[in-house]
Amino acid sequence: MTVLVIGAGLSGLAAARTLQRTGQEVLVLEKAAQIGGRVQTLEVDGYRVDKGFQVLLTAYQEAAAVWPEHEINLFPFASGAIIHGREVKQLFDPLRHPSKMWRTVSSKLFTTRDVKSLVSLRLGLQGICGLPERASTEQAPEFLARLGFSERFTNAFLRPFLGGVFLDESLSVPADAVRFVLAMFARGEASLPAQGISALPEHLSQGLRIRCNCTVAEVEPTKVILNDGEVVHGKAIIDTRPPVSTSWQSTKMMAFGSPIPHDTTPVLHLANLHDQPDAPILHACAPSLVAPNYAPPDRALLYATLRTDRPSASLKDVRRTLSNWFGLSEEHIEHLTTIEVRQALPESPCRASQDAREHGIYRSGDWTTHASIEGALRSGRIAAESVLQDLETKPNAKTA
Ligand SMILES: Cc1cc2nc3c(=O)[nH]c(=O)nc-3n(C[C@H](O)[C@H](O)[C@H](O)COP(=O)(O)OP(=O)(O)OC[C@H]3O[C@@H](n4cnc5c(N)ncnc54)[C@H](O)[C@@H]3O)c2cc1C
Repeated sequence: MTVLVIGAGLSGLAAARTLQRTGQEVLVLEKAAQIGGRVQTLEVDGYRVDKGFQVLLTAYQEAAAVWPEHEINLFPFASGAIIHGREVKQLFDPLRHPSKMWRTVSSKLFTTRDVKSLVSLRLGLQGICGLPERASTEQAPEFLARLGFSERFTNAFLRPFLGGVFLDESLSVPADAVRFVLAMFARGEASLPAQGISALPEHLSQGLRIRCNCTVAEVEPTKVILNDGEVVHGKAIIDTRPPVSTSWQSTKMMAFGSPIPHDTTPVLHLANLHDQPDAPILHACAPSLVAPNYAPPDRALLYATLRTDRPSASLKDVRRTLSNWFGLSEEHIEHLTTIEVRQALPESPCRASQDAREHGIYRSGDWTTHASIEGALRSGRIAAESVLQDLETKPNAKTA
């Protein structure tokens, strides 16, 4: 009999792949018309627009195992940021971009104390190569204050950067999540696949049996009932759907087509919230300067991610900001689409392991581990391994 997986997001696909590799028959049931869940790329007028700005961090361990370098074509961002406030400042990782060291030092973004805090943060990240086994109770703002960062540096860099990662400028996330994410940025690169972020689930889905347009209405330990009444039997069921009570962070992004900017550094642009607390956008980038296939030849794709803690900025304000940040004239910046993802990142415990077994069903999904590509892949693998373990110990058992 088949193992059923509910949801063809990264978690469900990772679970199905793990099971199939051990010779299990697997069927993935997906509500949407396409696979990928929250990892989608739209085609808009010849541009590839990801549904919300997201990057793959090459230091993710699970991700490196499922998408080895020789199988997926990844393009890296530069390790740094251009920060737009009263002046334009640059902050680049001196170890990776030594030629930009002077620009970073002369930016006067940080005090001597911030430098000490950055050094001790960096040293503290060295031993972190994956999600923490146990979650601590400390929250990000206390953690950053304990390290001694000045308010100016926090608002000029840490808040827009981490606020963009967690889709929450208030940084109401566990300190563990910040440490994990920063360690991943420090160890590897933020990257984009050549064909858009949806290349990730597409690659993972190869060879899997997937039924799209198939909504699961009810789940029992050995069967699921679809919303048209069809019953599908399975010897075990992995359910990647988050509980209805889950709290979510949302995000809104605008995508634009433009001429290629003069400065082609493939880097993230941040709003300096110390200088400009009312900046209309939190960050922006030109993904086509990172991975050229994101835009037609001789054109650039620009993303602007709106503030998370205030009413949406107008198209006019966003266009004006991009015009300043990228040195382009406003009339040459053409609006392609606006994307709002209401359920983008679920509240998650930020931990490496979860017990996937619950009332005879196996749970997975980023909400069980960490709201990230890595968390989703890991949760799927763990759920699949729990199924395999139980099938091995109870080969005749039909339930978990
Ligand atoms: C805008 C945005 C930016 C992000 N940025 C990053 C980033 O930069 N780096 C990073 O690591 N992570 C990022 N993430 C997080 C990452 O994309 C997610 O953690 C991951 O994709 C979640 O995968 P999942 O399989 O757990 O869930 P999902 O992708 O949500 O998959 C669940 C699947 O279940 C299906 N489903 C739901 N109900 C049913 C039903 N009744 N029957 C059948 N199927 C059903 C859904 O259609 C969906 O396909 C971002 C996410 C978003 C949205």
